[in-house]
Amino acid sequence: MVEEDGMDLEEEEEEDYRSESRRKASTVFSVIASVLSGFLGNWACFKVSEMLNVPSQAFPAAGSQQRVAPAGQSRNKVVLKPGHSLLDWIRLTKSGQDLTGLRGRLIEVTEDELKKHNTKKDCWTCIRGMVYNLSAYMDFHPGGEEELMRAAGIDSTDLFDEVHRWVNYESMLKECLVGRMAVKPSPALQAHTEKTESTHLNGLSAPPSLRPEPLSAPLPAKDHRPRYDWFQTDGTVNIVVYTKRKIPSAGCAVVDLQDDNLRVEMLLGRMSYLLYWRLSSRVQDHVDVQTAHSVGKVQLCLRKSVKEKWTQLGQSLEHHDTFIQCKDRGLFYRECVLLSKTDVTHNTQLLRLQLPPGSRMQVPVGRHVYLKTSVQGTDVVKPYTAVDQMLIPPSQSSAEVGSDIHLMIKVYPDGVLTPHIANLPIGASLSVGGPEGSLTLRVLRDVTHLYMLAAGTGFTPMARLIRLALQEFTVIRKMKLMFFNRQERDILWQSQLDELCTKEERFEVQHVLSEPADSWTGRRGRIDACMLQNFLERPENSKCLVCVCGPAGFTESAVQLVRQLDFSEEELHVFQA
Ligand code: NAP
Repeated sequence: MVEEDGMDLEEEEEEDYRSESRRKASTVFSVIASVLSGFLGNWACFKVSEMLNVPSQAFPAAGSQQRVAPAGQSRNKVVLKPGHSLLDWIRLTKSGQDLTGLRGRLIEVTEDELKKHNTKKDCWTCIRGMVYNLSAYMDFHPGGEEELMRAAGIDSTDLFDEVHRWVNYESMLKECLVGRMAVKPSPALQAHTEKTESTHLNGLSAPPSLRPEPLSAPLPAKDHRPRYDWFQTDGTVNIVVYTKRKIPSAGCAVVDLQDDNLRVEMLLGRMSYLLYWRLSSRVQDHVDVQTAHSVGKVQLCLRKSVKEKWTQLGQSLEHHDTFIQCKDRGLFYRECVLLSKTDVTHNTQLLRLQLPPGSRMQVPVGRHVYLKTSVQGTDVVKPYTAVDQMLIPPSQSSAEVGSDIHLMIKVYPDGVLTPHIANLPIGASLSVGGPEGSLTLRVLRDVTHLYMLAAGTGFTPMARLIRLALQEFTVIRKMKLMFFNRQERDILWQSQLDELCTKEERFEVQHVLSEPADSWTGRRGRIDACMLQNFLERPENSKCLVCVCGPAGFTESAVQLVRQLDFSEEELHVFQA
C-alpha cells in the first residue's frame, strides 16, 4: 500500500512551515513586488509591508463558493441580468468607457480615502496593494452585489483569496484600476526592505529580481525538509531530490525548463518543495525524470548543449529551496499543445494536452490544473481535474510519464471558456497552470469502505481515485460510487464503469438520473436521505471515507445528508476547485 508519508510527518511539516514563514515573507515580497513593478512601471517607490497578504487559511476557505458552507450559509450565485455575462463584461472593458471615473489617471490612495468609497455607486477596494473601482462590475459579479459590497472601502485581499485566489483579477479588473495604496511600512519589514532593496531605477526603489537573503530562522530539531544534490558527467547534469518520504505511484514532480530557467516542484501531500535556478549553461530542452517511489528519490537528467564542465548549477531564483504549504505557492503556467479531442458523451470531451519538451507534470490523484486562455483580450481561467486516458488503462501508456495531461471537459453552450476550448483545432496551444488541490492520500489510510457521491463532471476526481484505490489500497474492502446525472446519455465512461463492476468484486456503481427516459429502470431523482441511508453502510470495525464532488448545490445537499448520518469531518472529503 502506498503511504503518502505524511501522517507521522504532518506535525513536523507544520513546524517546517512555521520556520519557513519568515523566509517566506521575504520571498512573497519579491513576487508581489515584481508583479506590481511590472504593472506600474516607473511609479514612485512603494512600500511592501501592508501588501504581505499571505493567505491565512486553506483554499478555498470557509465561506468560499468552492467550499461547502454550513447549512443556511451557502454562497449562492445570483441570476445575472441579461447582458451581464462574463463576455458582456469583457466587451464593456474593451469599449473605452471610463470605468474608474478618473479618465485613465492612476492615483495614490490613502486608507482614509479608500474608506470613503464604500457605496454601490462608488465602491473602491484594495487587492494586494492595488485599488480598484468595482461599481461598474457590480451587476456582472456572479456572487452578487451583496458579496461585492463586503469589499467596499477596505483592503479585501483576504476576502478575495478566500473565494477567488486563482481568478486573474489583474486582467479582469484592469480597466477598473484606480491606483495603488499609499501605505505605511511596519518598522520590522522596513528594516528588512532597506536591506534587500539595494537597486534603484530612475531614483525609485525597484524590487529585487533574485531571491533576497533568507532571514535566519532556527532549523527544527528534526529536519524533514526535502534536500537536493547534483552531479555531472561529460554530457549530463543530474539533480537528485530526496523527498524524505515515500512518493505515491502517480508521482509528485512538476518540472519546467523554460529558456535557461529550471523550476522543479515536488508536491508532497499538503507541502510543496521548490527548486528554481537560472542554469549556468545551456541544456537541451528535454528533461528526463526518474522516480524511486519507495525510497523517496526523484532524479532529473538534463543534457548539456556543450560538453564542458560546469562550476556551478546556476543562480537561485525566487523561492528557490523553499518548503511551504501548496496553497501558499503561486500558480506556474506553461504552454501546452492540444494533441487530441475525443468525445466521451454528447457534450463532454477528453482532451489530451502535451506539455512542452522541457516540462514534466505528475499530477497527484484528485488534483486539478488550471486552463487559461484569452477571450477577447481578457484572461479567463478555470480549474479542471486531471484524469487518465481510461478508467483503468490496460498498461502503462506508451507516452512518457508526465509528458501529457488528460482533461475531461463538458462544453456548456453559454460558457465562456468551454465553447472556446471545444473549437480549438488540434495543435493549438493552451496555457496550463498548477497542479493544485487538497486531497492527500493520508485520508485513505486504513479506510476499509470508500464511498463516492459524484454528480456530472464531479465524477472526474473519482476516476483516478477508483483506480488508485483498486490498485494500491488493498485494505479497502468495498468502494461504491453513486453517480448522479440528468439523462443516461450524460453518464461519463458508463460502459467502463459497468465493466469494472463486473470485473472487480470490491467495486460497485449505482446510477441515479434526475431526468430519466421512461425506459430507465434504475434509480431516479435527486440525492436524498433515503438513498444514502442504504448506500452508506457502516459495518462493524470498518473505517469509512465519503468523497463528494459535483455542482455546488448538490455538494451542499450531499454533505448535509452525510453529516446527518453521523459521519464525522474526518470521514468526509469534499473535492473543491
Ligand atoms: P449537471 O449535469 O448539471 O448535474 C448532474 C446531476 O446533479 C444532475 O442529476 C442534477 O440534477 C444534479 N444536481 C444539480 N444540482 C443539484 C442540487 N442543487 N441538488 C441536488 N442535485 C443536483 O452537472 P455538471 O454540469 O456536470 O456540473 C458538474 C459540477 O461539478 C460543475 O459545477 C463542476 O464545477 C463541478 N466539478 C468540481 C470538481 C472539483 O471541485 N474538483 C471537479 C469536477 C467537476 P438536476 O437535473 O435536477 O439539476
